[in-house]
Amino acid sequence: MILTKEQLKSKPVARSRPHVVILGAGATKAAIGNDMPLMEDLPKILGTDWKELLQEAQPPQGNFEDTFSWIRKNGNFELQLSKIERLIENYFQVLKLPDHPTIYDYLVLGLRRKDVIATFNWDPFLMQAYRRNSNVAELPDIRFLHGSVAFATCTEHDVLGTPLEKCPECNCTLGRGRLIFPDEDKNYAKDSIISRDWIAVTEKLQKAFHLTIFGYSGPATDWNARKLLLDAWKQTPAHDFCHAEIVDIKDKETLDNAWIEFFPLSHSIIEQDFWNSSVGRYPRRTAEWKHAVSINGKIVESTGPFLTKSLIDLQEWFRELAALEGETMG
Ligand SMILES: [Zn+2]
Repeated sequence: MILTKEQLKSKPVARSRPHVVILGAGATKAAIGNDMPLMEDLPKILGTDWKELLQEAQPPQGNFEDTFSWIRKNGNFELQLSKIERLIENYFQVLKLPDHPTIYDYLVLGLRRKDVIATFNWDPFLMQAYRRNSNVAELPDIRFLHGSVAFATCTEHDVLGTPLEKCPECNCTLGRGRLIFPDEDKNYAKDSIISRDWIAVTEKLQKAFHLTIFGYSGPATDWNARKLLLDAWKQTPAHDFCHAEIVDIKDKETLDNAWIEFFPLSHSIIEQDFWNSSVGRYPRRTAEWKHAVSINGKIVESTGPFLTKSLIDLQEWFRELAALEGETMG
C-alpha cells in the first residue's frame, strides 16, 4: 500500500496532533554555513575581553557554556560578564538571513499552524524567516526558549513581534525579553516572558505526535531544559506509536546515547541531514506521513524538498501546497 505524492498533497487531516521542532545552534550552522559560530566558537568572537576574564577568574577547563556558568556562580565577576553578554547580543543583532532560501525558510514553511518551532538560539534567523514568509501560508507557532535578539513581545499579551512594534491588543510598545545565558541553575519560571514560551511549547509537546530535535546538543548547563522537554513529551497520548527524530551531524551512536530517554519504546529516527528529515521530505504533511506509516503501515512517497535558489519560487511552491489545505490566511 502506497500513499502517493498526490494523495499526500491533498487536503490534510483536520485537527491532527502537533509536531514540535526544537532547534539548537547546529540548525543555524546547517542553514547559514560555516561562517556561523556555534557556542563553542564564541570565545573567538569575544576576543580579549573574554581572555582577560578567563585569566582573572581562572575557571577549570571546559566548554564555553560550562566556563560561563562557572564564572557566574563564582559571583565576583558580574560587571565583566555583563560586558560579555552585551558583546554577544551586539554580535547576533546585526546578523541577517541571505536573500536565497535557507533551511529556516523550509522549516517555517514546512510546518502548519498546529505545530511549533522552538529555538534555543539567540540569533534572529527564525524570526526573520517567519517574517519574510508570513504572507505565503499559515505558519507554525514560533517560540524562543532562551530569548532572541529579534523577538519582542508585550508583557500582558502573547504577541510575536520585533522591538519597537506596537502590541495589537493594548498598543504599548513591544519590548525585547532578556537572553538566557549559560547557567546550570537556570530557572525559566523566574522570567515571565521566557516562561510563557516554555509553557506554550511544553503544552504542545504533551499532545504531540512527533518531536524533532535539530542541531541541539542539550549541554550539561541545560539539564533543566532537557527535563522540562522530556517530562512534557512523556505525557503525549501518542506515546505508543510516536518517534523522536534527531537531526544532527554527530554519529548515530553518540546521538542514540545522548537522547535515549526521548525515544519512546526505543523508536528513534536519526538523520544527519535536514533534507532527509520529516519536515524536509513531507513538508506541511508530517502528521499525515506519520499516521500513514505508523498506523496504517503504508509506504509514503515524499513530496519534498523542493530545492531552488529562488525564494520567490520556493514561496510559490508552498503557496500552492497550502492552498490545497483549504484553510484561509488570516
Ligand atoms: Zn499588549
